[in-house]
Amino acid sequence: MESQQRSPLLEVKGNIELKRPLVKAHSRLPLPGSSFKRGRDQMEDVVEPEKKRTRGPGTASKFAASQPRAPVRTTVPPTQGQTAAPKLPKKTGLRCSTAVATVLKNQKPGPAAPAQKPGTAAAPPKLEGKKPSKRPAWDLKGQLCDLNAELKCCREKTRTLDQENQQLRDQLREAQQQATDLGAERRTLEGELSRVRAQAEQGQQELGNLSAHVLELEERLSTQESLVEELQKEQLGLQEERRGLATRLEEQEKRLQASEAALSGSQAEVASLRKETAAQVALLAERGERLHWLEMERRRLHNQLQELKGNIRVFCRVRPVLPGEPTPPPGFLLFPSGPGGPSDPSTHVSLFRSDERRGTLSGVPAAPTRYDFSFDRVFPPGSGQDEVFEEIAMLVQSALDGYPVCIFAYGQTGSGKTFTMEGGPGEDPQMEGLIPRALRHLFSVAQELSSQGWTYSFVASYVEIYNETVRDLLATGTRKGQGGDCEIRRVGPGSEELTVTNARYVPVSCEGEVEALLHLARQNRAVARTAQNERSSRSHSVFQLQISGEHAGRGLQCGAPLNLVDLAGSERLDPGLAFGPGERERLRETQAINSSLSTLGLVIMALSNKESHVPYRNSKLTYLLQNSLGGSAKMLMFVNISPLEENASESLNSLRFASKVNQCVIGTAQANRK
Ligand code: ADP
Ligand code: MG
Repeated sequence: MESQQRSPLLEVKGNIELKRPLVKAHSRLPLPGSSFKRGRDQMEDVVEPEKKRTRGPGTASKFAASQPRAPVRTTVPPTQGQTAAPKLPKKTGLRCSTAVATVLKNQKPGPAAPAQKPGTAAAPPKLEGKKPSKRPAWDLKGQLCDLNAELKCCREKTRTLDQENQQLRDQLREAQQQATDLGAERRTLEGELSRVRAQAEQGQQELGNLSAHVLELEERLSTQESLVEELQKEQLGLQEERRGLATRLEEQEKRLQASEAALSGSQAEVASLRKETAAQVALLAERGERLHWLEMERRRLHNQLQELKGNIRVFCRVRPVLPGEPTPPPGFLLFPSGPGGPSDPSTHVSLFRSDERRGTLSGVPAAPTRYDFSFDRVFPPGSGQDEVFEEIAMLVQSALDGYPVCIFAYGQTGSGKTFTMEGGPGEDPQMEGLIPRALRHLFSVAQELSSQGWTYSFVASYVEIYNETVRDLLATGTRKGQGGDCEIRRVGPGSEELTVTNARYVPVSCEGEVEALLHLARQNRAVARTAQNERSSRSHSVFQLQISGEHAGRGLQCGAPLNLVDLAGSERLDPGLAFGPGERERLRETQAINSSLSTLGLVIMALSNKESHVPYRNSKLTYLLQNSLGGSAKMLMFVNISPLEENASESLNSLRFASKVNQCVIGTAQANRK
């Protein structure tokens, strides 16, 4: 029955079924991007009920009768892309109306279709036999009525479907617009995606780099960690050390505090000491000034004293009798005491000489004649070197004050001149003569004066004058023992200062150096002695020490020579031997000696008498000593006497000569100060 009623409709549905590919084709309108996919899905959703409808007429008719499809589709949100879906109902609707039209056309002939059997004409041939109509075949009216109703329904559906179709068209446009927009959006998104991909690639690359960097950092971190570990260990050690140091620091701080306390005490002490020092310095300066004044005063008084003693002084020294020498008769030489008794230094000497000729003539031994001499000082045979030096020390010191000093040893050969000036043989310091003692004294006083600002320098020379020729006793090397190549010359034109050419001038500052020079002089004399017998006793030895003093602080200078002269033997030539063999040379020597010694005497006399002409140039000796003889100089003459009676005559001559000298008074000495 159901199949009969629905046979025309089934045809319509069959048409609809047949048209479904069209719907599908229509639903496959090119839609952009994802919306296309969603549209297809939607289409499938739409198609699925159609498929179901083909399975059974019941479901299809139920669907067709109860539920128009378009409104269902319109409920789907447009964003879901179901633009294709609404087309199915639209097409279906179209096909449905076409099918209804076909049915109506087929039924128009009605009875004019005789070929069609009753009961089968109303049903479509395809459905015939499958679903029998509700109405009997003969109920054409009923069938017509059904068809009309169905037509009406179809028309209603057609209208609905048209509306739906219109809606779907609108939706399609809208969807197309959306598709266009979505396409644009897709392109934008694709561009963005490619950018993002590029960024992602870059990010990947960066990530790779970062990973490598991270690895590196991790490696470094591990290194750092090991380092940190080491450092931590070190830190622990350092902390330990720090604790130790802190303890020490604490101790040090305590000590520092104690020290600071002590320091503050010391500072106060220092301040008071500074004050004291300043006072002391002021006092010292004052005392220095006073000391200087006293020194100058001492020099003045010293000079005055020397003047009072006489600028020419004569000391007589009698040497002891040497072992092997005949003992002189008692009372041959007498040394009367001074007015103060035996404690007074002796200044007198008496020589007793018996005149043999007088005794021979009278037949009665004549009483010895007494010759009394008075000198500034007389040293009897027992006098030591130190005792002698003590007397001349002050005179020597005058040289430091700027007064030229000249000390002579006069006497016959063997009377002790060399012993007095240089000293005895051997190394016994007690035997040291005036030269080493004088120099030691000068060095010592110069050292003392250095504390007052004086600085002294000493230059020594030692020459020998033999037969009016000058020889250097300090010559060394090939010149040793040679002679005659030295000349006395002025230092410069217009200068009063004299110098010996080719002679060595040796700076000395200590005893050792002086000792070496004296030793060298002795060696030079010994060489000469082999060439000419006893030459030393026939020559004058002049030791000169040039003294230069300076007080830089006060701009003072002083300089003077100290001359220590060992004169040649003063003995006279025995007239009986004068013409003996080999005595011609001796005569010449003696004449030279006598000449120079007498010139010395004459010079002293001339100075004493203040004569206008002083014959310095008459002998090499006086010429060399020119600046140490005269007004500004101090002179001391040792007259050395032999204790032997056999030398009485020569002793008497020496004493007479010395006595004459002693009577001389040379003008006031002046210090060579600048
Ligand atoms: P000169 O130099 O006058 O010729 P010396 O000085 O050579 O005399 O003395 C001769 C000798 O007498 C030397 O052996 C010396 O040692 C000795 N003599 C001289 N004076 C003394 C004295 N005062 N004490 C001891 N011996 C002396
Ligand atoms: Mg001598």
